Amino acid sequence: MPSVAETFFTKLLAQKGQPILIAGPCSAETEEQVMATARGLQALGNIDLFRAGIWKPRTRPGSFEGMGVAALPWLQRVKAETGIPTAIEVATPRHVEEALRHGIDVLWIGARTTVNPFAVQELADALAGTGVPVMVKNPVNPDVALWAGALERLERAGITDLAAIHRGFSTFAPSRYRNAPTWILPIELKTRFPHIPLICDPSHIGGRRDLLLPIAQKALDLDYDGLIIETHPDPDHALSDAEQQVTPARLGEILSELQYRYRSSNNADYLNKAEELRQKMDVADREIVEALARRMALVEELAEYKKENNVKILQFDRWQEIFNTRTEWASKLNVNDKFVAELYKLIHIESIRKQTEVLNGRPQIDGVAHLGPGL
Ligand code: PEP
Ligand code: MN
Repeated sequence: MPSVAETFFTKLLAQKGQPILIAGPCSAETEEQVMATARGLQALGNIDLFRAGIWKPRTRPGSFEGMGVAALPWLQRVKAETGIPTAIEVATPRHVEEALRHGIDVLWIGARTTVNPFAVQELADALAGTGVPVMVKNPVNPDVALWAGALERLERAGITDLAAIHRGFSTFAPSRYRNAPTWILPIELKTRFPHIPLICDPSHIGGRRDLLLPIAQKALDLDYDGLIIETHPDPDHALSDAEQQVTPARLGEILSELQYRYRSSNNADYLNKAEELRQKMDVADREIVEALARRMALVEELAEYKKENNVKILQFDRWQEIFNTRTEWASKLNVNDKFVAELYKLIHIESIRKQTEVLNGRPQIDGVAHLGPGL
C-alpha cells in the first residue's frame, strides 16, 4: 500500500520548502577526491545528500569498476566531518549489507538493475525491515511499467521511504542527450505514484556539462522535487563520466542560475485570471474532441465505401496531401508545425486502425502502435 506517512524525502522537502539537492562524484576514487568533493559541497551550504558510486555497473569490462567496500569508510568520514548524509548505489543483497554495516543513509537502485525484476526482488527482500530510504532510477529502456514495477516490489516489501530518479532512456535514434529525457514517462510515473518524490539526474540525461543547467531548469519547471548532479574536484580527470561532471564551485553557479518558481500563487488577480483562461481552454478542448469525433465518423463512412469498392486502406498521395496542408495551415495560424505534424501522424494512425477494423471485420492486432511511431 502506498504510504502517506512522512519519509526521509518528504520531511526534507517540507523542511526546506525547496528542491532536494544531491551531489557528489560519479565514483569514489580516492579518499582525497571524496573529501575534496565533500568539502566543496559543504561550502555551498544547501546540499542535502552526498552521492558516490562504490560499485560501478559499467557497460563494458575493463573500465573503472569502483573501489568497492574500501571506499565505504571514506563516506563515513564525509558524514562525520561535513554532516551531510551519504548515498550509494546497490545492485546486490551483499551491497545492501555492506552499505548498512557502514552507516550509509540512503541507497539507490541503478538503471541497469531496475530493468531486471529478479534483481529488484532480491534487493527488496534484502531491504525489507531495514527502514533505509531508497531511490529508484528509471530503467535504461523507456518502459515506465518496469520503473513502476520496481517501486511496487519495494512497497510490497514494506519499503515506503522511496524516491524515483529520472536519468533518461537509451535510444537508438541519434540524440543530443546521452540518455533521452522523454519527459512524458516520468510525468506518467508521477501520476501513478503521486506520493513518491521525483528527482531529476541532469548528469546522466545530458552527459555533457553544458546541458546540466537547461535540463535542471526544465525539471524544476515540471515541478520535480529534487536534483542529483555529479561533482568532482577535477572533472577532466575523473575515472568515470568525466564529460558530465562539474566542480562543486561550478555546481554552486548552476544552482544560483536556476529560476526557482512557485507551484502556485495566492494572489487573487492571478487566481481569477488563471481560472478564466482555464475555462476557455476547457471549451477549446471540448471543440477539439468534438472535431475528432466528427473526423472519425467520416473515416468510418469512407471505410465502408472503400469496402464496397474493394479499395486499399492506405493511399500515399492522400496521406502526403493531409500532412502538407495541415502543417501549412498550422504555420499560418502561428501553431508549431512540427507539433501539428506529430499530431497528424497519430490521427492518421488512428484512421488506419479504424479502417482496418471496418474492412477486415475484426480489430487490428496491436492497436494504435501498429504502424510504429513513423506512420
Ligand atoms: C550513477 O548514478 O552513477 C549511475 C551509474 O547511473 P545510472 O544507473 O543512471 O546509469
Ligand atoms: Mn555516473
